[in-house]
Amino acid sequence: MRTIVVGGGLAGLAAGLDLVDAGQAVTLLEARPTLGGAVQTLPERDGDPSPPPDNGQHVALGCFTAYLHFLARIGQSGAVSRTRLALPVIAADRSVSAIAPGLAALLRYRHISFSDRLTVVRASRRIAAFDPFDHDDETFASLLLRLGQSREAIDRFWDVFIRPALNLRSDEASAALGIFTVQTALLGGGGASDLLLPAAPLGEIHGDAAGRALAAAGADVRVNARVVGLEGDAAVLGDGHRVDGDAFVVALPPAESARLLGEPTPLLDDSPIVSVHLLVDRVILHFPLAALLASAAHWVFDRGRITGRPPANRQYLTVVSSGAPELAATRGRELVGIVARELTERLGSAELLWSRVSREPAATFAGRPGTAALRPGPETSRPNVVRAGAWTNTGWPATMESAVLSGQRAALALTAVANRVEA
Ligand SMILES: Cc1cc2nc3c(=O)[nH]c(=O)nc-3n(C[C@H](O)[C@H](O)[C@H](O)COP(=O)(O)OP(=O)(O)OC[C@H]3O[C@@H](n4cnc5c(N)ncnc54)[C@H](O)[C@@H]3O)c2cc1C
Repeated sequence: MRTIVVGGGLAGLAAGLDLVDAGQAVTLLEARPTLGGAVQTLPERDGDPSPPPDNGQHVALGCFTAYLHFLARIGQSGAVSRTRLALPVIAADRSVSAIAPGLAALLRYRHISFSDRLTVVRASRRIAAFDPFDHDDETFASLLLRLGQSREAIDRFWDVFIRPALNLRSDEASAALGIFTVQTALLGGGGASDLLLPAAPLGEIHGDAAGRALAAAGADVRVNARVVGLEGDAAVLGDGHRVDGDAFVVALPPAESARLLGEPTPLLDDSPIVSVHLLVDRVILHFPLAALLASAAHWVFDRGRITGRPPANRQYLTVVSSGAPELAATRGRELVGIVARELTERLGSAELLWSRVSREPAATFAGRPGTAALRPGPETSRPNVVRAGAWTNTGWPATMESAVLSGQRAALALTAVANRVEA
């Protein structure tokens, strides 16, 4: 069977690999000049430190089993460094306390009162027993308040990791996704909450490596190939060329997917991620990464150290702010000023030597209450066409894990169709 995969993000790449490994003839069509979709390294500019910045720091977790399988398949298991979760959280008074897995560690988290820590432990035990999808009708914050959490515990504990994980504040995010995240990562055990940080540029270890793996397995991978229409037996490209196929995987963001499939646009809003990359003239962050409480700069990463290339007597940092539309709308120089000020106030003074901003207005869909029902599965109205993408109904928030999982499920659904046709 000739299968065409439309979209070269992680979902399309994962689907393509599974299909080619199952013996199908695969052609992958990607609109952009590079593969990897939302997981990209920025085009290099003069003066960039080494390695060049990514479009945003990507963090995977130990519970991302499909993503880890994908990395292994493309020969990149060694390209992420894995550490046990021990997230230093820096408060406005510069005091530091760490979030670590396990209920005993929660009791040692000093940024909330001891009585709040006890209620956090009690709430975690209750959350462990919930079925996430019974709770898609309310926000995670409203559930937490019902479970006796104070506003302070929400702001100074839960939102520290829920906001980057769901790319929304607990006040906005569906409780289903909040519960899922707590159960799967924080309480998952067995290294589920381990942090996996890319030790090399994202483009190299995702799009480039997956493209090579696909080509080595016999797939035809084409970039700069925007699909503008799907007909019965062909994908039609923007330049009018047709690429013939018997089956199709549509691995695109929601609106583009609906357009190609002739479906109504899913009522899923976008949520932005803003990343500011900075080179400063001295070391001010003494951890590989940290979260900042009550700051526009949510998490800060020592990119030089994480990639094994710390610049001498300087520090190369990436600051990520998740689900913050007000920052996404702030102009470049002003944004750099805000973020640099927040960092130096919290970490110590330093001279800014270089900066670069990366804005992703549609980094993920906004997983608000009521969105579970808006996320379709792989099947479409046509038996030879399946859908994939981090936004589809994997149960996961829009993460790399969700993207890979959706691609694998789409490939499985198509393989089942092919087997039925052959039988
Ligand atoms: C800045 C940023 C930070 C993030 N941080 C994290 C993180 O820390 N951890 C985490 O797990 N996840 C993170 N994510 C989310 C994660 O990257 C995405 O959920 C995932 O990569 C989406 O993959 P996808 O394949 O579903 O979609 P996409 O990556 O959007 O891929 C879709 C592809 O389709 C292509 N395309 C679109 N239209 C067409 C067309 N007509 N024809 C052909 N091709 C087309 C696009 O160019 C794109 O390459 C982050 C995302 C961003 C943007």
